[in-house]
Amino acid sequence: MFNLSGKTAVITGGGSGIGRAISLLFARQGATVHILELSADAGQATADEISQAGGTAQVHAADVSQQAPVKAVFDAIGRVDILVNNAGIAHVGNVENTSEADLDRVYQVNVKGAYNCLHAAVPLMKQQGAGVILNLASIASHVGLSDRLAYSMSKGAIFAMTMSVARDYMAHSIRCNSVSPARVHTPFVDGFIAKNYPGQEAEMFEKLSKSQPIGRMAKPEEVAALALYLCSDEAGFVTGCDYPLDGGFIKL
Ligand code: NAD
Repeated sequence: MFNLSGKTAVITGGGSGIGRAISLLFARQGATVHILELSADAGQATADEISQAGGTAQVHAADVSQQAPVKAVFDAIGRVDILVNNAGIAHVGNVENTSEADLDRVYQVNVKGAYNCLHAAVPLMKQQGAGVILNLASIASHVGLSDRLAYSMSKGAIFAMTMSVARDYMAHSIRCNSVSPARVHTPFVDGFIAKNYPGQEAEMFEKLSKSQPIGRMAKPEEVAALALYLCSDEAGFVTGCDYPLDGGFIKL
């Protein structure tokens, strides 16, 4: 079950957190993993872990928000069976304290970054006659989170983009889904706490954990397990779906 042997997977932001966990698991399941990363060092660290475990991985240093370098990476790879649009950035602020520059940057990375990868990957998938796309949405795509205007707007766009792409490319055997995690314990969360609550890190970690109905944050590996199912042939009937991985956040 869930064997990815012979598949080429491109995972954006595979140098850290959820993208790292997905890269490691997909490689363990037999995929050749291409990590598209802003941080070449972080990407290389994941690729080294994969190689040491006997898997195959390559790093491509690129900023997803820049179309030409992203296209060059996909052209060089030449085949994409699986695309995971994972790279993303956070921003804290409501309408009054989100500047135009803040909104632009979050959109450039979270929305245009995913679009740039789709724009490069979908023609390859069409040529191949099949492909799978998985987008990292968020509970922010579904519920009102305080002080997360730009981030929520960007993740709402990811949800809508997922459905649009699923509809447009179903006839080409290209499936497109998203996952919507609540808080996952990654450097993304640690960085957020360190930046916004200096000196209160332990307290804030506890508070954020307890704010999840299930009483803790998710582990990156728990997101990777769902990603593996959705990107595997076993999920061949699943497209145009968003899967919350939220410890009960949305409905309870
Ligand atoms: P992370 O910060 O730990 O890792 C993100 C990775 O993306 C980093 O390695 C970073 O270098 C890379 N990256 C950032 N900007 C990039 C760019 N412009 N081009 C290429 N690579 C870039 O983040 P994470 O917590 O693993 O989150 C991954 C995804 O999951 C994000 O889209 C995030 O919005 C989403 N998500 C995270 C959580 C959470 O609580 N951690 C919850 C819901 C959704």
